[in-house]
This record gives sequence, structure tokens and C-alpha cells, in this order.
Amino acid sequence: MNRSIRAAVRSRADYRCEYCRLHESDLPLFPFHIEHIVAKKHHGGDDPINLAWSCHECNLGKSSNLSGRDAETGRVVVLFNPRRQRWGRHFAWDGATLIGLTPCGRATIDVLNINSPHRVELRELLILGGVFPPE
Ligand SMILES: [Zn+2]
Repeated sequence: MNRSIRAAVRSRADYRCEYCRLHESDLPLFPFHIEHIVAKKHHGGDDPINLAWSCHECNLGKSSNLSGRDAETGRVVVLFNPRRQRWGRHFAWDGATLIGLTPCGRATIDVLNINSPHRVELRELLILGGVFPPE
């Protein structure tokens, strides 16, 4: 991955994780990652249309997954794609907890483990500090 693509992806995301919306400065000891929306093992490429800026936890949770199961409907659905879908259509905040508004949103929250207790606790602290959520 060349530096200019990395810088462009980072800037395009406004330095926030494109899944959980955490800002890089909210977790400075854990560098963010370039995330392949369609993983290389599924023949996803390095074109910026396939890349997202991601915190390390969302990146680890997503791994090479392309889909997840929505617990509400039982359906297997494609995970959120920040290049092709609007975040606000699939997700909303309830305090520090991320709510899935659609099967895609709910499955993404589940697979990426976005509401794990320590992540919710971090967001509670950021809310108290007045720096979260960004929208
Ligand atoms: Zn994240």
C-alpha cells in the first residue's frame, strides 16, 4: 500500500473509523488500519473504492468477513460497506451504544463487536469529555 493512497483513505474518513466512528486521537496508542472491505482472500484489491479507515478493533472483528447473521431476522446479510452505503441509514447512537437500524447494521455491529463492554465504556468517557459522537 503506497503512502499517498493510505493518506487519501485516512483523510477521506476524516481520521475516524468508518465503522464505529472513533477518532484516531480517541485511542492514540492503537494505530488505525487500512481495511480491505472485500478482503484480498476474496479477491478484493487495493483500489481506494475497496478501502476503509478502521480502528484496530473493528478491523480485527471484521477480518475477512463479508457477511454476518442478523439476530433479529435470522438472515445472513452482507456487512456494511462504507464506500457504497450511508452510515446514518444503518446505524444510530443510543448514548454510547451503537444501534443497528437495518439487518446490515445489526450484523455489522455483531461481527465487529462494536458494543463490547470495554468499547462502550471508552465511548462513555468520550461522551463525558464532549468529543463523541461526532455527528
Ligand atoms: Zn472502529
